Order: sequence, then structure tokens, then C-alpha cells
Amino acid sequence: MITLGIETSCDDTAVSVIENDGKILSNVLTSQEVFHRDFGGIVPEIASRKHAELIGYTIVEALKLANISLRDIDLISVTKGPGLVGSLLVGLEAAKSLSFALDKPLIGVNHLEGHIYSLFLEGAPLYKQKDIFPLLILIVSGGHTELILMENFLIYKVLGRTRDDAAGEAIDKFARFLGYGYPGGPIVEKLGLEGDPNKYEFPNLTFKGSPYEFSFSGLKTAGVYFIQNHPDVVQNDLSNLAASFENALVRILVERTVRAATDFNVKGIGVVGGVSANKRLRETFANVSPINVYFPQKALSTDNAAMIALTGYLHYTIKGETSDLTLDAISRLEL
Ligand code: ATP
Ligand code: FE
Repeated sequence: MITLGIETSCDDTAVSVIENDGKILSNVLTSQEVFHRDFGGIVPEIASRKHAELIGYTIVEALKLANISLRDIDLISVTKGPGLVGSLLVGLEAAKSLSFALDKPLIGVNHLEGHIYSLFLEGAPLYKQKDIFPLLILIVSGGHTELILMENFLIYKVLGRTRDDAAGEAIDKFARFLGYGYPGGPIVEKLGLEGDPNKYEFPNLTFKGSPYEFSFSGLKTAGVYFIQNHPDVVQNDLSNLAASFENALVRILVERTVRAATDFNVKGIGVVGGVSANKRLRETFANVSPINVYFPQKALSTDNAAMIALTGYLHYTIKGETSDLTLDAISRLEL
């Protein structure tokens, strides 16, 4: 069975073709990074215009690389949310048009759920693995930070989310105040690669309440103030500063996740979303977690359409779900 996946929730125009439960035939990503870089973040108006320009070309390229034609598609899976409405609509209209013209089923999927299935694609550690549930999932992306107990395919319980900012948001803002563009995560990672992660102290989490929730606004503000108040450090000791900030963020994520994994007695931990590409995060988990930790391939940590194709495939084959042509964009959508 061939599934075409379309992902346009943010600033990347992505189309993928997968076969059955996760074999990747093609995975095309047309990055818009250069168009947004100078603005220090994504400009929604630019994003939707670029999606409209790029989507046709990206679909054709994905089919070509997969060596299939439109007629070979059995299912069309598309991100319905969360994300920027103007961006989502471009992917949705493309998917609906194809579904209508080809008379093939359509399914709208949740982008966050998509990130989870990046762990189950070909080349990822959980591809075709058996006996892996319950699995604890940490979604750590540009807009979300949450802990999810995954009891089986498509069965989840949200344990806790961030009360304010996402981890990715904090690191992006830190980079912006250092004078760099978006996305900031890979830049901070590179700056701090050789740095001393314990040189500068940043606050840990202090709020009372659920141990499965996060909060990154305090750390974000501390980072911004530090940059503003210590131009000398920014000038002369940037590598240690970047490593220390990154380390503070990683420590919070790892501590809370490992604790939840122990509390719920899971068989493994899956870490997904853009920030899961981070080297320090991966190493820290590997060093401190008593439970196996799984990551997607680095290239599939950030947004891609293969994860969207697989999510749609699972909903269609396990639950028989489809969407009709009234399928609409939902900017705020939770798991
Ligand atoms: P969401 O999935 O929450 O809707 P999004 O799709 O914009 O948001 P992703 O593409 O999953 O987010 O991730 C982007 C985020 O990941 C950005 O904040 C970016 O800085 C961060 N990121 C990407 N690579 C790295 C890295 N190597 N280290 C740290 N952060 C990273
Ligand atoms: Fe994402």
C-alpha cells in the first residue's frame, strides 16, 4: 500500500511517499529557511506564499524519486494542525484536490502525533520492533514540550505539558538575542560544542505541582538577561555560555522525563521533535537514563512528511478512519 504524505504546518514544504508501515520511498523537503532567516522567526505570510509556490514542484519531485505515478497512490495523508493556518491550508487543498481527482481516500492527521511516528519509520530504532509498549514519549519541538504515555499504536495519555514556553522556543530566543537567525537550536548546539556546560549557572525548574509538567519561560528570560548584562561574556566566552545554557535546558528535560519513565515503569523512552536532534540531549539521556532511550534519525527529528504519511497509514489501517473534503485547518490542536 502506497501513502503520500503532505506536511506544510510551518515553514517547510514537505512531501513523502511511503510503502506500508514505514518504508520510505521518497522524502522531499523544500526548505524556506533563507526566506525567513533575516526576520529572526517565521513570517506566516511569507510561509504560506512560499508553500503555494513550492507544493506542486515538491509533490512531483517526491513521486519521481519514489519512482511511482499519481495512479499508484492508495492513500493521501496530510497535516491538519497544529500550525499556521495559512500554511496548513496549502497542504490541505493540495491533498484534497489529489484525493478528489484520483478518487483515493484522504486522512487529516495531527502534526504532533506525526512526530511520534518518526520513531517508527524505516531507519529508526523502533521500525518493526515488537513488545515495546508502554513507551514514554517526550515531544520536544519548536512549539511543544510534553510527556505522553503511549500504551499502543494510536493510544496515548498526556501526562503533562509545558505551562508556558516550549524548550525549542527558549533556545530560539536565546540564539536571537545572541544575534543569530531562526532556527536557533542548531546554532547554539554548534557554538557550545566544545564549551564547558557547567561554566555559567542558569535556573532549574522551581514550580510546585505535577512533576510531569515543564516551564521554560524562566530559563528563557534568564538567558536573555544574561546576554544583555554580560556583553563581555558574549564577546569572549560564547562557547562556554552556549554550552551552559543548552545544558540547563537539557538537564530539565532529561530529569523530568527519566522520572516519569521510572514512575510509569515503561519499557522505553522515545524522544521526538526538532530539539531531539540535539547532540547534548542525546548524550545526556544515554548517560543517565536507566531505561532504553530511542531517537529518530536526525534528519527526521525536525518536520518531515514521512512521519505524516505513516501516521495517516496507521489511522487508516488500524481504525479505518478517513476524512472528507470538508477537512479544515486547525491551528491549535492537541493530542
Ligand atoms: P511543532 O512541532 O511544535 O509544531 P515545529 O514543527 O516548528 O513546532 P520542529 O520542526 O519539530 O518544530 O522543531 C523545530 C525546533 O527544533 C526549533 O526550535 C529548533 O531550534 C529546534 N532544533 C532543531 N535542531 C536542533 C538542535 N540540533 N538542537 C537544539 N534544537 C534544535
Ligand atoms: Fe514539528
